Amino acid sequence: MIQQRKSPVSPASLAGKKSWDGEDVRETLYADQNGKCYLCEVCTDHFFEVEHVQSRSNFPEKAFDWSNLFLCCRYCNARKGKDYDDIVSPCQTPCEEVFDVYIRPGSKVVEITILTPDIPGANKTRELLLRLHNGKKTGMRDMKERIFFEKFQDSFSSFVIRLNKYKNSRTPENRAKVAELLTIDQPFLAAKLSVLRRLPELLEDFQRETCWNRKP
Ligand SMILES: [Zn+2]
Repeated sequence: MIQQRKSPVSPASLAGKKSWDGEDVRETLYADQNGKCYLCEVCTDHFFEVEHVQSRSNFPEKAFDWSNLFLCCRYCNARKGKDYDDIVSPCQTPCEEVFDVYIRPGSKVVEITILTPDIPGANKTRELLLRLHNGKKTGMRDMKERIFFEKFQDSFSSFVIRLNKYKNSRTPENRAKVAELLTIDQPFLAAKLSVLRRLPELLEDFQRETCWNRKP
């Protein structure tokens, strides 16, 4: 999960309070979020839904509130439901600096660590991220959760391999291969930043590439 950016002007169709997922809402969210799910950071392609951070059932008054709407994949939307209303504010929280998302070599469990205490909703968000990455009960993933984890693990490993290659041979070509996995349209950026965090000299080297929506 990385900090999100949202167009300041609310899409016109929301004013009618009839539909929260009009074409203008979808298009604006898709552009704002680079086509990625705000929770898991996977490219949604055409399989996206418009999600209410604070659920419609518990917060009906926020059903058409632009600040409450985000592009989400079906996988995450189904698991978030109305059980995680009080997560961090996606646009106001530098999520990738608050949550460390890491998998140790050989492990099948994704660790989510809160780096910055006292952020409202951080614990609940951690709980949701653990659910998305590890399944309902750690180590007991259903089929979709297993497929998601494998996708995460593949992407994570590919990044580690490219980064190690650059660490051992700092050529412009090797650097470019790391940088292309760090553009904002790429998946799992928070986890990639967590890998870099463990290699401070490289983290500094890729400072420019890892600002994303935290840019002023
Ligand atoms: Zn997702």
